[in-house]
Amino acid sequence: MNIDMLTTAVYIVAALMFILSLAGLSKHETSRSGLTFGIAGMALALVATIASLALNSWGSTQSTIGLSLLVVVVLIGAGIGLWRARVVAMTGMPELIALLHSFVGLAAVLVGWNGALDSHDVPADFIGIHHGEVFIGVFIGAVTFTGSIVAFLKLSARIPSSPLMLPGKNLLNVGALLGFVGLTVWYIITPDIWLLVAVTVLALLLGWHLVASIGGGDMPVVVSMLNSYSGWAAAAAGFLLNNDLLIVTGALVGSSGAYLSYIMCKAMNRSFISVIAGGFGIPKPAAPGEEDEGEIHETDAASVAELLKAADTVIITPGYGMAVAQAQYPVAELTQRLIAKGVTVRFGIHPVAGRLPGHMNVLLAEAKVPYDIVLEMDEVNDDFASTAVVLVIGANDTVNPAAAEDPGSPIAGMPVLHVWEANTVVVFKRSMSSGYAGVQNPLFFRDNALMLFGDAKDRVEDIIKAL
Ligand code: NDP
Repeated sequence: MNIDMLTTAVYIVAALMFILSLAGLSKHETSRSGLTFGIAGMALALVATIASLALNSWGSTQSTIGLSLLVVVVLIGAGIGLWRARVVAMTGMPELIALLHSFVGLAAVLVGWNGALDSHDVPADFIGIHHGEVFIGVFIGAVTFTGSIVAFLKLSARIPSSPLMLPGKNLLNVGALLGFVGLTVWYIITPDIWLLVAVTVLALLLGWHLVASIGGGDMPVVVSMLNSYSGWAAAAAGFLLNNDLLIVTGALVGSSGAYLSYIMCKAMNRSFISVIAGGFGIPKPAAPGEEDEGEIHETDAASVAELLKAADTVIITPGYGMAVAQAQYPVAELTQRLIAKGVTVRFGIHPVAGRLPGHMNVLLAEAKVPYDIVLEMDEVNDDFASTAVVLVIGANDTVNPAAAEDPGSPIAGMPVLHVWEANTVVVFKRSMSSGYAGVQNPLFFRDNALMLFGDAKDRVEDIIKAL
């Protein structure tokens, strides 16, 4: 067996491991083994790529320098990756992921440019296809790059999460797409480097505009959509580098990300096309805080403890604030105490609670809350009406009745947890400020809602003490 055949065989094993990884990651119980498969597959892929390069060009000075550089950058990259992953707080994960997507996009742009500048070895019969690959790779990569940077800035609150509403924004997007098609055809006929400069700038602007035009409430779909784009960018780079594994891996990431975006759009009652087209057809949201919602009813930890002692059923609906407060550990302890007292406790998880798909599930699993009491929104939504107490811990948009009742709301139509149907709802938050989508929440002003102000972790600990 020669080196290339051996490399291909290892690539097939690595690709299978990536498929097993995706399958494992689709369920709580198997997610750890899914991660292990992913890490093992990537390690195999890296070793096989570097080893085949080394063995194929053994002895030449140029290759020794190239390989040494490759090993150095892999070690530096792995070191930075390990360090960031260890120190990042759970609340910082979404922006870290957005930033990582931007690197994939940038890499695809650089591979595309390299392919354009170094195309003298490409046979004449294939040069048109090669130029097309260069353009597609640079275009998808550049859109992913700036789109992910904007997502990073929005998720880390460095820029406002509200949508940018440029006049004629849909025409701008369609114009950019048509411009890309025209430039590609032109480049295939006359490969002038300025056309590549033009498409790079066009795609960078389009990526920026597409994500900037999407409001906070739709950011979950944007995050998984950029995940998908980064996969297609990697696949495009795979074609240029003639690397089968990169094509397969890119296609796996691209298609699974696209499917996840589709599922999330369905869960949020959003049109997939309208979100990927930069908020096409989504109306301009009303300015927040215009409405006067009436009075709120404030409570304290001791009163909530009394309420819980008397309750037979409790549902806890966590949100982003639980992640900020790192309240999952006291929440798990409170759950144990209540179960020990004979109370039926369950969790209701909204599909976009937090800032990342599955954010709440990860936090609760970390705090060892049993999987079987952690239910999806659809499994629990009909049960609120027969529930004594609901604890809304740092959630806001995902429990906003305006989504179900006010057709003019920017989050209208997005399915929400019907917490307001319970006998009593206790809302844990620090102030009256709005959630990520920037809209007021009428739940806080309902007669059966009690506001427990303060950091969620401190307040849950106070309740545990009072119990
Ligand atoms: P929200 O962002 O709507 O609300 C979080 C609430 O937590 C706020 O009202 C905040 O109020 C409160 N809070 C923050 N810190 C604390 C703290 N230390 N203690 C107590 N409360 C705190 O969160 P949800 O989870 O309900 O909704 C998620 C939102 O994020 C949706 O709009 C979703 O579309 C969006 N999103 C989701 C993504 C995903 O993939 N899941 C990705 C990107 C965005 P206060 O400041 O007053 O304390």
